[in-house]
Amino acid sequence: MTPPAIVIIGGGPAGMSAAVAAATQGLSCTIIDEGFALGGQIYRKPTNPERAPAPHPRGEQLRAEVAKLAQQIQVRNGDNVWGIFDELRVAVTSPDQHTELLQPQALILAPGAHELVPPFPGWTLPGVMTPGAAQILIKTMGVAPGKRVLLAGTGPFLLAVACQLVDAGVHVVAVLEASSRPAWLSLPLHGFRTPEILAEGLAYLSKLDRAHVPVRYGRIVVAAQGETELNAVEHAPVDAEWFPDNNRIETEQVDTLLVGYGFVPRLQLAQMAGCNLELRPDVGGWIPIRDRNLATSVAGIFAAGDGAGVAGSLVAALEGQLAGMAAARFLGAIDEATFAAARDSIEQELARLKPLRRALDKISALQPGLMSLVRDDTIVCRCEEVTWREAREAVCAGSTTYRSLKMTSRAGMGACQGRFCWPFLSRLVAAEAKCSLADIGPPSARPPLGPITLGALAPEPRDK
Ligand SMILES: Cc1cc2nc3c(=O)[nH]c(=O)nc-3n(C[C@H](O)[C@H](O)[C@H](O)COP(=O)(O)OP(=O)(O)OC[C@H]3O[C@@H](n4cnc5c(N)ncnc54)[C@H](O)[C@@H]3O)c2cc1C
Repeated sequence: MTPPAIVIIGGGPAGMSAAVAAATQGLSCTIIDEGFALGGQIYRKPTNPERAPAPHPRGEQLRAEVAKLAQQIQVRNGDNVWGIFDELRVAVTSPDQHTELLQPQALILAPGAHELVPPFPGWTLPGVMTPGAAQILIKTMGVAPGKRVLLAGTGPFLLAVACQLVDAGVHVVAVLEASSRPAWLSLPLHGFRTPEILAEGLAYLSKLDRAHVPVRYGRIVVAAQGETELNAVEHAPVDAEWFPDNNRIETEQVDTLLVGYGFVPRLQLAQMAGCNLELRPDVGGWIPIRDRNLATSVAGIFAAGDGAGVAGSLVAALEGQLAGMAAARFLGAIDEATFAAARDSIEQELARLKPLRRALDKISALQPGLMSLVRDDTIVCRCEEVTWREAREAVCAGSTTYRSLKMTSRAGMGACQGRFCWPFLSRLVAAEAKCSLADIGPPSARPPLGPITLGALAPEPRDK
């Protein structure tokens, strides 16, 4: 079979928009996404449409645009990309464990982000989840994560999920936002060019108000309590650096706690592809370095969306369009003038979204007080059940990089390979060893990206 001109990894707003842009220029594209349908995180499709809420209209529109271009766009749902090798060779395994190496002429990375959760006493108890995990239960199956739910962390995503829980009939006890109320009240100053986004935020607040869900600013969860499962949460007011006032702790009886402090770009594909990286805590951490056309340092590889810096679904879709057009230009399907005109109009829209986004990033920037919650016996690496005492001893003995800490303490050695624990563990290590996050580095990534079977790696010959 002829390989597609472009392989796009990720079928969220960035990946779908990239495919539509490139296919409209006559190029053949393949979108690979591990999910059962296109949509990514925000436009996730229900598996149980009778119980789950109706899918997001913007997601439906993007799916329809992809479907209209079915002659050019092949969609491979349920398939997993677990390796990128030199000369743009992409290893992909389908659910029946059949593995293929695709070799397109250009590659667009649009893998999105995952959630950021700090370790704190009790955070591994059943009943403590991320807002995104709860949202997946509601969006796909219409299943509520619990009966009495508390949300805590920072950012507008908490409000969105709280509203979805209210719609699903869940008792939301409160939303605890770590940043101060005055910081949030300053947002309209930055969002006058994006009134539709401000209006969305206000609609969330007014829905929560009508449902009598208090949104409490300047508070964080300091501990989750329970023997075998969560039954209560302790929370406290914080200062400007999010250090809690432990004399003013309140306790809330709940069966579910959803904690999320933003998102971290899924970097591993770019790492495996050999792209140069930079540390940008303002957009979630380590990201591939890109030029104005979203080209990475590896010729023929472009990166778009949250996986290249967390900026939300609208930016992801615009970046996807730009990456699709840039790949079309790279392959000679459009001339420079056509590309430059498309880029100008996309950049104008990106510039319109920027001030509000920057202000939101600033308000939700992680503060050092969050690290003060970790006790010696707090598990910092869930996969390998490594406590902070064990990790700290390894740091004090000189293990201050991801690689050496992994070897000496096993932190980051488990199934997630540091994806989940490292964003916070690296901060704890930096504070303990008095070095910078850049010195510590990102977790390493090597194939296979996730667990795969031996059969997928070395299949038996089919025509024995
Ligand atoms: C759990 C979660 C829920 C979110 N919900 C919302 C929300 O309700 N509202 C909102 O405004 N923002 C939400 N966000 C943020 C939102 O995801 C983004 O702003 C936006 O969806 C980014 O679009 P994207 O195309 O860059 O990535 P995504 O939408 O995340 O799409 C990336 C896709 O790539 C797939 N993928 C990644 N790696 C591979 C691989 N190796 N092989 C195959 N497929 C792969 C992923 O499964 C995913 O489907 C959420 C984020 C997360 C993590």
